[in-house]
Amino acid sequence: MGREIRRVPLDFDWPLGKTWEGFLPPENLRSDPCPDCDRRSPGITAAREWVDWLTRLMLTLDDRPDHPYLASSYAPRRPPSPDIQEFGSGIAGREAGDMGHDGIDQYQATRKIIAAAGLDPDVWGFCPACRGEGWVERYPGQNADAEAWEPTGPPTGDGWQLWETVSEGSPISPVFPDKTGLVEWLCSPAYTWGGPMSRDTAERFVDFGWAPSFVFTPGRGLQTGEEFVGETT
Ligand SMILES: [Zn+2]
Repeated sequence: MGREIRRVPLDFDWPLGKTWEGFLPPENLRSDPCPDCDRRSPGITAAREWVDWLTRLMLTLDDRPDHPYLASSYAPRRPPSPDIQEFGSGIAGREAGDMGHDGIDQYQATRKIIAAAGLDPDVWGFCPACRGEGWVERYPGQNADAEAWEPTGPPTGDGWQLWETVSEGSPISPVFPDKTGLVEWLCSPAYTWGGPMSRDTAERFVDFGWAPSFVFTPGRGLQTGEEFVGETT
């Protein structure tokens, strides 16, 4: 569980457990779900979904010939003979591993089948409205704006506060005017995120968890000793 110490203003009062607003892209940068796509399989047409599924069945003939679903559909056909392996390996581009053919095999096999039909597997079967993205811009240039967006951390100050980094980042302790206050809180039953910590661990964590060079990157977790100290509580 990722946690870090942040130095925030003493009167910082962002709600506990609520992701800091600067870590989330603003509402106007969130794209809309593509209206032409099915939410269960965004980006692809129903035709490609079927071809993908039938390809999965063909690969299953190779890696799980005794699969109950297949067995129920054999009659009046015979179960597949061992030469199905040549077919499965050929279409997947490699032999089935211990776990059978994986999603990459299926992806490659589907592409080969689409190409065998004389179609471009990078084009055919993708939603024309969103070109396979599953999302559409709310205004022209929104994607570029979203890529240019950078998260901003909370304001800095003299206070000490514990944050979790499992979500993009939210405060989970009161703001303390000094290190000792936070250490004592980490050692108390109030710290429910894996604590209470021992005094020694809490002191090391607070020391490790705050450094002037510390850079927070949403989604990447901690880069220094805080995580280690936290995990070994
Ligand atoms: Zn679409």
